[in-house]
Amino acid sequence: MSFSELGLRPELLRAIADSGYDTPTPVQTEAIPIVLAGRDLMAGAQTGTGKTAAFVLPILQRLHESPVELDRRAVRALILVPTRELAIQVEESVQTYGKHAPLRSVAVYGGASLPDQLRELDAGAEIVVATPGRLLDLVWRGSIDFGAVEFLVLDEADRMLDMGFIDDIRMIISLLPKERQSLLFSATFPEAIKRLTKTLLREPATVQVTPPNSTTALVDHVVLRVEDSHKKATLSHLISNGHVTSALVFVRTKHGADRLTNQLARDGIRVAAIHGDRAQSQRIAALEDFKDGRIHVLVATEVAARGIDIDALPYVVNYDLPRSAEDYVHRIGRTGRAGVDGVAISLVSESELPYLRDIEQLIGKPIPVEQVPGFVSAPRPRAEGRSPANGRGETAVGSRYASRQSTNRRTGPAHRSSGPRQTRSTGSGRGSWTALPGERTSGS
Ligand code: AMP
Repeated sequence: MSFSELGLRPELLRAIADSGYDTPTPVQTEAIPIVLAGRDLMAGAQTGTGKTAAFVLPILQRLHESPVELDRRAVRALILVPTRELAIQVEESVQTYGKHAPLRSVAVYGGASLPDQLRELDAGAEIVVATPGRLLDLVWRGSIDFGAVEFLVLDEADRMLDMGFIDDIRMIISLLPKERQSLLFSATFPEAIKRLTKTLLREPATVQVTPPNSTTALVDHVVLRVEDSHKKATLSHLISNGHVTSALVFVRTKHGADRLTNQLARDGIRVAAIHGDRAQSQRIAALEDFKDGRIHVLVATEVAARGIDIDALPYVVNYDLPRSAEDYVHRIGRTGRAGVDGVAISLVSESELPYLRDIEQLIGKPIPVEQVPGFVSAPRPRAEGRSPANGRGETAVGSRYASRQSTNRRTGPAHRSSGPRQTRSTGSGRGSWTALPGERTSGS
């Protein structure tokens, strides 16, 4: 299947070719004809499947095919997303795919200057990409007119519900014309989403590109058993020794994110944090620095990282395991994207084992427990009476890590050789490591 067989206009095909894509992803192959045919759609697709283009391309086409003269404030397509980062990225996709047949678009999201967004809206925009809260602020100010909305997209619908946007979403829907086409994209389908689809969608076509609650086959999952007090040293070791090159590291709290960032920075690692307490400009700058390889590690909280789109991200590290197994699916959706393999490494302490079991149940498979190259993180000394990690055997993972280094486009060998200092090395070559308290070296 090629993009031209999907029935897209030449201007869009040119923009797709400019982006370097030659083959549509499964969600694009299935969803684009459905949207072009005017049907409502419920799509099970997580970040990394190419879902953005699956709705942006056909909407651009439909809007172009039926140009209308409207008041400046009238919006024709409304795309709701959970976070400002995703709003910015989706709007960038609108610009990218629409560059040879431009339509006016704007991203509106909280935490950024309201007057600036008002000015942009005043200039007129057929397509608005918005987070729900800020959008409603603008509606109450009379800055947006919903009377001409033809398309509504809920992107990452499950995340929006998790973030407490359900009332805002219901309010927004109640303000829209009844005659419209609605599309819902979600990685997971908890009960609340199923209820929402019943009121939102009319006889929807369904597309499911990954089994519900599953993870992409391109991601290798690894558990490293590490107690909390050793997690920072373990992560620092993996990065300093080049086992992990460029990683998005998830922590649970903002405070934890700052603390880890400072600690890694002290170890000479180029690192930045994104979380809700950081200014929007700082978050954008950190994301850009990470994408461009100026920093190697981006430490993020769940919410701040939602929907961020980074090509060829080789590693996601769960520094803390998420309390909800569905969050695990979302987190690791940041790697193994667009055909590029990824590794999801989870540092799991004893107290987190119940969460690990939930995750394994949700994704439907056990996650192998492996050793950190160069040292043994588990089993714990027998005197403590613990069995080897999770009751499963451990294998060394040196080859897995090494293979990822060679596929990392942003931080090649040059980065590593001039990169972070090895701060705890015994100095005897790759994988050398000062044994952590309570651990023994592998003897290799
Ligand atoms: P998304 O799931 O929309 O966040 O997209 C994930 C990544 O896949 C983005 O970086 C897109 O630029 C990229 N992408 C989207 N469609 C294709 C395609 N047909 N071929 C290759 N990459 C794609």
